[in-house]
Amino acid sequence: MGVEALRYADLSPSPSDMKQNKSQKIFETAKEVLPGGVDSPVRAFGAVGGDPLFIKAAKGSRLIDLDGNRFIDYVLSWGPLIFGHADPAVVAAVAKTAAMGTSFGAPTAQEVRLAEWVRSYFPTMERLRFVNSGTEATMSALRLARGWTGRDKIVKFDGGYHGHVDSLLVKAGSGMATFGLPGSAGIPADLARLTITVPFNDLAAFQKVVEAEGSKIAAVIVEPVPGNMGVVVPVPGFLPGLRELTRPYGIVLIFDEVMSGFRVAPGGAQERYGVRPDLTCLGKIIGGGLPVGAYGGRREIMEQVAPLGPVYQAGTLSGNPLAMSVGISTLERLQNPQVYERLEAASATLCDGLLDAADAANIPVQINRVGSQMTLFFTDQPVINHATARRADVKRYAKFFHAMLTRGIYLPPSQFEAFFLSTAHTATDIKKTIAAAREAFKTL
Ligand code: PMP
Repeated sequence: MGVEALRYADLSPSPSDMKQNKSQKIFETAKEVLPGGVDSPVRAFGAVGGDPLFIKAAKGSRLIDLDGNRFIDYVLSWGPLIFGHADPAVVAAVAKTAAMGTSFGAPTAQEVRLAEWVRSYFPTMERLRFVNSGTEATMSALRLARGWTGRDKIVKFDGGYHGHVDSLLVKAGSGMATFGLPGSAGIPADLARLTITVPFNDLAAFQKVVEAEGSKIAAVIVEPVPGNMGVVVPVPGFLPGLRELTRPYGIVLIFDEVMSGFRVAPGGAQERYGVRPDLTCLGKIIGGGLPVGAYGGRREIMEQVAPLGPVYQAGTLSGNPLAMSVGISTLERLQNPQVYERLEAASATLCDGLLDAADAANIPVQINRVGSQMTLFFTDQPVINHATARRADVKRYAKFFHAMLTRGIYLPPSQFEAFFLSTAHTATDIKKTIAAAREAFKTL
């Protein structure tokens, strides 16, 4: 089936005839050449069991695998695809740009334009630099904060994931939470020792750390709306409190808005909650599905980056023209307030419908939602940090995941990840999803 035909595609076959022959076959080959058969751990379905689906194509809200099964997709490449898959404007931007050359290793006008667009949404990013992933953005922001302050220690929050940066793979969320790992092998103990972790939403614990070690701490990095222990909502006062407590010590406050940027509000969590960090990390949506990240912030700090300053950071493909042109096309269109109104309405309908469906089946759940990202936790207790997230019933999530999958709904293959919506998700998609959930909850 061609991608064009997907536009008219309906939902997947009925549960009984969902074949996975081709996916299973290539997964066997994949394991002979890629560790675990994948290029990123959570994709392997380790947390939910079964074999991963290999994707052939996607269009709008729909995903189609190698066996021809079709799904309504709530992973959306883990968030970037705010206009859905194979968005026509994105495809056109890639084609037009590629015809002019795919990389030059020299400056282009597109980088300047995208930087101006980013800054129009994130005014705290007075100067910014493009990199190729969220990981690169956080790694570079951390080095910069250490270079600027001349200090080594950093603070992060339990369950916060900031990419696979050595210093940040300590009590990290996402795949680490999924696989229950306290940290990664291969990180020197001397380095991990410099990372202090604190429970999210616990300002008193953070204050204690700052009062004890404030003059040695270069930076605190936070997902202001965590999405990698599942979605967690910051309690009122927590984010402003971080700002107030860091300022007197000159600790660099880094908002990792790789996921929340352009998701929880056009200007991210910093706009939604009115807090000005010193540095911000972005990724996902600014590349609209192409590999890109960015870090930026206060001018005097950013001017420590080479070639102006002594903090080195570089990239052969940084500011890649394909990624920049897709970023420009995406950010231009996010100016339209209807985009966020539509996402909010669809997300609220989905959230309410799922809660209702769970209730009808007598299954205790909690949904944390901010904007168009949400997590459905199988627990009867509020989820406010990593410890409470970990109380969720992961086995039940795995069952629910498969019950939804066989009904044509593709959810994240882990309890500790977020569902994302796009403008391509229609009212009918949401209705079908809720109807599938009604059945799925009953099977648990
Ligand atoms: N920070 C956050 C908040 C993220 O959610 C992620 C990825 N999920 C990253 C950083 C790392 O980004 P990437 O996977 O592009 O390296």
